[in-house]
Amino acid sequence: MMAGLFDGTSLERPVTCSTCERALADCQCPKNAKGEVVLPKDQPIRIRREKRRGKFVTVIAGFDPAASDMRGILARLKSACAAGGTINNDTIEIQGDQRDRLLKLIQELGYSAKLAGG
Ligand SMILES: [Zn+2]
Repeated sequence: MMAGLFDGTSLERPVTCSTCERALADCQCPKNAKGEVVLPKDQPIRIRREKRRGKFVTVIAGFDPAASDMRGILARLKSACAAGGTINNDTIEIQGDQRDRLLKLIQELGYSAKLAGG
C-alpha cells in the first residue's frame, strides 16, 4: 500500500484513495465487504480440476466476492472457452478441463493465479 496523505494523524481522514490517488468519491478501486481496496493481484486465485458425475469441471477459487466482478469474469471465461459455467459460492466453475487456458485468462485479468491439486 502507498502512504496516505495524512498518515500519522488520527483526526484527519484521507481525502484521496491511497491506491489510485483519486478523490474517494471518484475512486473505482475494487473493495471488499469492509470497504478496503482489494486489487486483483491481491486475490490469490487457485485453479483446480474436479470430477463431477464423470465429467471434468475446472474450479477457480480465491476471489473476493465483493471486490471482483464475478459475473463479468464468468461471462468472459465462458465465452473465451466456449463452455458452460456457473458461480458456486465464491468460486467460478467452468465445464471441462480448461486449467491451462483459464490460468492464462485469469492472469490476463491481473490476478495472481496458480494451478492447484490434480
Ligand atoms: Zn482508489
